[in-house]
Amino acid sequence: KLSQRLEAVANYIPRGFRLADIGSDHAYLPCYAVKKGMVPFAVAGEVVEGPYQSAQRQVKLEGLEEKIIVRKGNGLEVITQGEIDCVTIAGMGGALIASILEEGKNKLDSVKRLILQPNISAITTRQWLADNGWELISEEILEEDNKIYEILVAEKGDPFKPYKNLQKELLLGPLLMKQSSVSFQKKWRNELKNWQRILTQLENAAESEETILKKKELKEKIQMVEEVIDK
Ligand code: SAM
Repeated sequence: KLSQRLEAVANYIPRGFRLADIGSDHAYLPCYAVKKGMVPFAVAGEVVEGPYQSAQRQVKLEGLEEKIIVRKGNGLEVITQGEIDCVTIAGMGGALIASILEEGKNKLDSVKRLILQPNISAITTRQWLADNGWELISEEILEEDNKIYEILVAEKGDPFKPYKNLQKELLLGPLLMKQSSVSFQKKWRNELKNWQRILTQLENAAESEETILKKKELKEKIQMVEEVIDK
């Protein structure tokens, strides 16, 4: 059975789209999407030998070799131009996701939708999307096994349309902020506690140019988050 997290990612794949799942590990996501008849064809990309073999094994085990190709390679280099309509990248840091997109930019011409699930630093992924003409059309936040996950869905469009206060909403997610769900509140309440603890430590430490800058940054983030946390 697919994790709740990956099922939530799969829910955003448009029916009939040709899928590429980058960093696919066991290829659970493409296997699920193909078995459910959501997509006619999928590429599972993996850069590391172990997970690449796991993906191949899983696809074989499920008898899906005709519809899922497992390819070994870095990021989007495993897809060719015009081959794919929807790219999923899940379970990595937001900075890694952004760098995979940046390095593979030239492969995105035919891609109509990106579904991204950064484990941390979603801000870096949102920033890349905004800088590259991708408009956030949905965001979701969910909790599974005591971890909180964010899902960002983007299509080509006006990248700044969802944003009113860019700095704050790149951090928090413009659409997540509007929904302000229980998981959203929990995530940012936790972050806030962490930052406040670090700030206290810095305030007790010897002052240097570095600590002054760090404190300023933390105070700004704390203020942005305090504004959206229910009292
Ligand atoms: N996408 C699956 C999920 O969400 O459950 C697997 C997540 S797993 C934690 C991250 C996977 O991404 C690893 O198997 C890793 O080998 C792969 N990966 C990391 N960097 C990559 C890159 N540049 N290109 C392709 N795969 C990559």
